[in-house]
Amino acid sequence: MSEENVVVRITSSLGKILREQYPPDEAQRRLAVVLHMSRDIGRLAAGAPRARAVHTVIDQMRRSTPKDVAEKVTCRKGCSHCCHIFATCTDDEALLLAEVIERDKVEVDLEMLRIQNGLTQDGYEALPYDQARCALLGKDGVCQVYADRPSSCRNWNVSTPAERCDSRSPMAGNIQAEVVPMAEFLASAAMNLDERAGEPGVGERSSIATKLWRHLGHGSERRDIEQTSSSTQGPA
Ligand code: SF4
Repeated sequence: MSEENVVVRITSSLGKILREQYPPDEAQRRLAVVLHMSRDIGRLAAGAPRARAVHTVIDQMRRSTPKDVAEKVTCRKGCSHCCHIFATCTDDEALLLAEVIERDKVEVDLEMLRIQNGLTQDGYEALPYDQARCALLGKDGVCQVYADRPSSCRNWNVSTPAERCDSRSPMAGNIQAEVVPMAEFLASAAMNLDERAGEPGVGERSSIATKLWRHLGHGSERRDIEQTSSSTQGPA
């Protein structure tokens, strides 16, 4: 996919959302900012530093959200229901995670990676709760790579009670996510850089497990969901 197509795609969708939320001048200004940032990021060399650059900007965008929106967010440390859903990861982010895992001697649940590797979103969502647990989630229910977590984890913030995020709960569902459009679109632009890589197995919207499995040197083994019926580890 050419850079022009990526930019056009981002422009049309983001422009529509911004025009719904802001007066025309402000929508135009915000669009120009995010396009400028997307182009800057596209010029960086692929790899962990590019993932860090994207994360820095996303964090800045999230910090600049209005106080009343930020105060609505109910996500808290140790609440990890969203670490049991299909979360995506770019190749840059997988390289960053592999670097952090080695540097900090992070305890990765390789059995979870093996179970989840290669599953599509539908396949992932069909897993029992215990088998959908992110391989990087600590036994205490806290992310072991929080400072370097992928953009999809950074951007997922909700304003509804935690039990609605627990797929095992009768209260599950009706989740209200507090979306920061510019942060979402920057993450989308970074994901598009993967698509442009055009290598076999690269550029798919893959889960953290699938990308990490490959980048930790386990190749591209795929497993069918039927093979994953037995529970291995529950949340702490
Ligand atoms: S990387 Fe961290 S925040 Fe993201 S799903 Fe895994 S444990 Fe949760």
